[in-house]
Amino acid sequence: MDLRVTFLGTAAAAPSQAQNVAATLVQRGPERLLVDCGEGTQRQLQWSYAGLAEIETILLTHNHADHYLGLPGLLKTYANHQRQKPLTVYGPAGTWMLLRTLSGVIGRLPFELEIVELEAGDEVKGTRDYTITALRVEHRLPALGYVLAEAARPGRFDVAEAKRRGAPDGPLMGELARGQDITVAGHVVAAAGLVGASQPGRKLVFSGDTQPCAAVLEAARGADLLVHEGTFLDEEEAEAKKSAHSTVREACELAREADVRLLALTHVSSRYRKQDVRKIAQSVFAATVVPADFDQIDVPYPERGQPLLRKQGGLDSDAVPPFRR
Ligand SMILES: [Zn+2]
Ligand SMILES: [Zn+2]
Repeated sequence: MDLRVTFLGTAAAAPSQAQNVAATLVQRGPERLLVDCGEGTQRQLQWSYAGLAEIETILLTHNHADHYLGLPGLLKTYANHQRQKPLTVYGPAGTWMLLRTLSGVIGRLPFELEIVELEAGDEVKGTRDYTITALRVEHRLPALGYVLAEAARPGRFDVAEAKRRGAPDGPLMGELARGQDITVAGHVVAAAGLVGASQPGRKLVFSGDTQPCAAVLEAARGADLLVHEGTFLDEEEAEAKKSAHSTVREACELAREADVRLLALTHVSSRYRKQDVRKIAQSVFAATVVPADFDQIDVPYPERGQPLLRKQGGLDSDAVPPFRR
């Protein structure tokens, strides 16, 4: 099953010519989820391979304007398109009040909009064979990170060995694959040893805006991909502390301690050049990338290789956004 993260906005606080504010699209098989929805996200979606797909789940990390101002526009466009599919917006305490405040701007919607406030440890409902769990992170107001964790995959079933033991094709083979002994013509065929060890599922962690915190560190242990903010460089460490953000170095040290397979730094101040940020980051933790808008990371199962950053992999192949002209 494909698991793919597309960075729709990688800037902190305000958009620049080349970077939009926070929004990250997660695609798992046919499902698409949006983490944050900064101003202009619907336009970023239109330029992306996803287009204005009817996203059913939006996960807000917190109520700072660079993370939610894109919601009214996106919802209005969905309304203009006579969307029918329900949409659920998850977020920390305060999300319901935020949406109520915005409702005067948004107006009536032809589809059901559900708002769910989450606490640390709460899960997003309705997911199948994976979970999304909220983490309480440390910012200047209630803020969440999110962990997407797949269930373990069942081990491989050895059909040839099952047949050698005398199992016929058909439903009895299914019982053996589920670990139950079967009886064929009075003879017991044992299931033991026919199913290999189960394989771990993949894990993605999104920090949202936060200073380095234990909740993200613990959740990120062994993660396939950690998307962590790195708003400032060392020279602005005091500013990072004051505004409850992380420095690039702090995010990399956390990723190194958590032993993640890949760290993607986002929410990086547009005052810095990406190549400078990358150099500093990789000197602390080599497996770090600093995505630009529309870069994409494919996260394969561990036995199929490393997560890979594809430059502009999330851009619609026919799209020519202004910064490319
Ligand atoms: Zn922010
Ligand atoms: Zn913030």
